[in-house]
Amino acid sequence: MSSLASLPASSPPPLLLHNSLRPSPSPFTSLLPPPHPVSMYTCGPTIYAPAHLGNFRAFLTYDVLKRTLAKVYGRRVDHVCNLTDVDDKIIRRCRETGRSLRELTDPFEEQFRRDLDGLNVVPAKEYPRATDYIPEIVELIGELEGNGLAYERGDGWYYNTTAKEGYGTNLVDLSSRELPPSPPGTPPPDRDFALWKREKEGVDVPSALWDSPLGRGRPGWHVECSAICRSLLGDRIDLHMGGEDLKFPHHENEIAQSEGVRGREDRSGSEPFCGCWVHNGFVNIGGAGEKMSKSLGNDLTLSAECPGPLDKRAFRYLVVSSHYRSPLSYTPLAMDAARAALRRLDKLLAALDALPPPPDGGAAGPLSELCAASRASFEAALAQDLATPRAAAVMFGVVKAAEKELREGGGDLAGLREARRTLGYFDEVFGVFYLPPGEVEEQAGGEAPAHVAALAEARAEAKKGKDFGEADRLRGEIEAAGWAVADTPGGSFELSEL
Ligand SMILES: [Zn+2]
Repeated sequence: MSSLASLPASSPPPLLLHNSLRPSPSPFTSLLPPPHPVSMYTCGPTIYAPAHLGNFRAFLTYDVLKRTLAKVYGRRVDHVCNLTDVDDKIIRRCRETGRSLRELTDPFEEQFRRDLDGLNVVPAKEYPRATDYIPEIVELIGELEGNGLAYERGDGWYYNTTAKEGYGTNLVDLSSRELPPSPPGTPPPDRDFALWKREKEGVDVPSALWDSPLGRGRPGWHVECSAICRSLLGDRIDLHMGGEDLKFPHHENEIAQSEGVRGREDRSGSEPFCGCWVHNGFVNIGGAGEKMSKSLGNDLTLSAECPGPLDKRAFRYLVVSSHYRSPLSYTPLAMDAARAALRRLDKLLAALDALPPPPDGGAAGPLSELCAASRASFEAALAQDLATPRAAAVMFGVVKAAEKELREGGGDLAGLREARRTLGYFDEVFGVFYLPPGEVEEQAGGEAPAHVAALAEARAEAKKGKDFGEADRLRGEIEAAGWAVADTPGGSFELSEL
């Protein structure tokens, strides 16, 4: 369904985003104008276990902003998303299982990519692994040392946070909020963080150790993002995203590293390493508002929670139709509502797809006018810090009007065609009209597509309610879509391709 041609480009309002560097939403600008791509870096998963639904909320937020930039603003996006494949937990699992780092992490990288496909996420340009960037990491630490920002102590190399002007004041305000001031005469609290961890006898495993001028060891977590980002996107980027829990220390540390490797003159300048930081809220479970996280042990995985194609689409819909900065309540009720919304959309789309083409030269009616106004409202909503709940309400305004037109006989074929095109345009951003990859294979094996099955179910319902006129109309739609429906005993049906 995504093959539908986009509508002609209009001029959407400037895109305002809640940039965590600033107190209120501000216009998004890129370092280079179009046709240069927007450079975007996002923090990816640690691949020692399946990502959980809270993680996927972040990946879906990346996806909505990326699609908005591409489809509404016509910008190409160079997106890099790292995979953390070395840390304490991974090393412990390697030791416990006797597997090498690659043997342990490869299956989780594959699963992560499968899950992203299942959620219809537009792939990043690259998914680099931290351990493929060891030389770049070592080089970056060497430059930090040259600038007086990295030093060696017992177990490795550390970042000297007290030597970095403005440390901890970009995305959070450590000085006023998070730490009491140090009493006079005492050293400031130690915020220094590890850049390179020297080998620990009996703890580390050979597949997670590298020889380097810094000593035999492995990188700390924060430094991988700075090194990968610089290697693949350059010294400065347009957009950086992650969950709000990454603001501190991870993203503050990234800023300290990425700005710390600049020359002295450059460092005193006011240009940030990244001009726009966007952070999404947590996923809460049930009504109690408990945050989902691996450490709390309530990390629900996509495959367990959303086994079927409609479940995956429903989770996507639930996330993309909620505002990315608000906490998201993941409850059975919310998922049921999302499934119901999708069934309604599928049914309408199937009906619209089955309509004959409109006659030439018809004047634009009220439905066409509503579609044009809705397109503008949809773009205006996204431009207001990605107000997707409002954008979804605009979409359902079109759904309601098209359903009404169909109920009343469907005479305005030009308007209904426009409604179909408009819904296709909205879906360029929402991305909910799709069949997850596993389902496509089944379909190739002779299964009817979901929208045809939905029509057949609606026909069975109509027959049960003795609405034979409606049942006949739906049979016509099913046949127009290239399928025959036959009744079977017990009120069920079979579909076969015509
Ligand atoms: Zn990161």
